[in-house]
Amino acid sequence: MRFDTVIIGGGLAGMVCGIRLAEAGQRCAIVSQGQSALHFSSGSFDLLSKLPDGEAVADPIAGMAALEKMAPEHPYALIGAEACESYARQAPLILQETGISVVGDCRKNHYRVTPMGKEKATWLTIDGYLTAEDSGQLPFKKVCILNVEGFLDFYPEFIAEEFRKQEVVCHFATINLPDLEHIRKNPSEMRSANIARVFDHEDNLAALAAKIHALAADHEAVILPAVIGINRSDAFEVLKSSVTIPLYLLPTLPPSIPGIKAQQALQRRFRSLGGEYFLGDTVLTAESEEGRVKEVFTVNHGDEPFRADHFVLATGSFFSKGLIATPDSIREPVFGADTLFNPSRADWYTLHFFDRQNYQAFGVKTDRRLRVLRGGSAVDNLYCAGAGLAGFHPIQDGCGAGVSLLSALYVADQILKEKRS
Ligand SMILES: Cc1cc2nc3c(=O)[nH]c(=O)nc-3n(C[C@H](O)[C@H](O)[C@H](O)COP(=O)(O)OP(=O)(O)OC[C@H]3O[C@@H](n4cnc5c(N)ncnc54)[C@H](O)[C@@H]3O)c2cc1C
Repeated sequence: MRFDTVIIGGGLAGMVCGIRLAEAGQRCAIVSQGQSALHFSSGSFDLLSKLPDGEAVADPIAGMAALEKMAPEHPYALIGAEACESYARQAPLILQETGISVVGDCRKNHYRVTPMGKEKATWLTIDGYLTAEDSGQLPFKKVCILNVEGFLDFYPEFIAEEFRKQEVVCHFATINLPDLEHIRKNPSEMRSANIARVFDHEDNLAALAAKIHALAADHEAVILPAVIGINRSDAFEVLKSSVTIPLYLLPTLPPSIPGIKAQQALQRRFRSLGGEYFLGDTVLTAESEEGRVKEVFTVNHGDEPFRADHFVLATGSFFSKGLIATPDSIREPVFGADTLFNPSRADWYTLHFFDRQNYQAFGVKTDRRLRVLRGGSAVDNLYCAGAGLAGFHPIQDGCGAGVSLLSALYVADQILKEKRS
């Protein structure tokens, strides 16, 4: 099979890179072995919430300029603050065109609420989620937190404890329905995706609306776990339009319904642009010739190679097996790319889970064009985008999705520029 570009990994980075290339008319394939980090998403996309010295970032674009000096190995520093701003402005438009409606501004972080009720600075949040413009500014003073009876991946008590610190009066309510009783027979079935399927049915959605309606008189808003609308995209809109009280979603423990929907929307968009998507296939090896990757081989296609002018490594970090930790090194399994890591394993992590862990910044080394380094030299037609890149702390610095989105767009531009020249 021959393509203009083959992308390995179909998470946020791979999909967005593929969409951009397909929009430009490239014949593009994405090979992806399985679930991505999107299936665990909070419903928000972080751009930059903290600098490496721990200073909070209010304006991510201004923060990137500081980052260029402070952390020259950070993907944003390689891309350059000016280009980052341009991609940060394009990314929400690409998500919107895909059908993922988001709110947020790259010049000012807003606050989202975690499943434990804590506020966290972020860049873009999927429509419908509870956000606050500024810290401590929840948009209500009396709220009802409505859970599904027996749903254990959502914690109204913890959320209320945090809200009360802002002097919000919190009440609780639960909903039960015959269809929920059915999945409750097996406690392990009481998960967000199964519950969301129940609320995809018109009757159940109407019953939920009636329950919310009954709570409206005594509250300023109602909060729901994000278990609305897995196979239909209008469910939350329908629900909102059937009640008179403001409704907000809060993230649950995984699987993440908004993340799954985002992943599906990205796949649909890529395919609608003519992209070929090979889900459930794993790239195992690559053949190179004269400093260029010639072809890659996958589990499902055996001896039949995927050939292309360009290849993009978007296989993620340890979580997605894009990086493998051995006792004394960090390996990138497909191309044997050079990786950045501390030689002494004792320096990889501390025993304090919430510390800044060195291993989180381990990853694939690239040049400034994000071309993968192998044996110290850049491979001409192999780029890296997303969580597998070296040099950043996605959680501590709140830049996970931002690095994936911006590096994906940057890599696509590198490929398109090269094609033109
Ligand atoms: C659990 C979790 C939750 C997160 N939540 C958030 C959040 O809420 N907000 C935020 O801003 N950031 C979050 N992040 C940071 C996250 O890294 C980015 O947001 C982003 O989604 C990562 O996308 P990616 O495409 O770079 O990598 P991934 O999402 O990891 O995608 C890599 C893909 O490559 C595939 N793959 C791997 N190896 C191969 C192979 N050999 N052949 C074929 N396919 C392969 C994998 O199956 C996977 O689908 C989270 C990270 C994790 C791990």
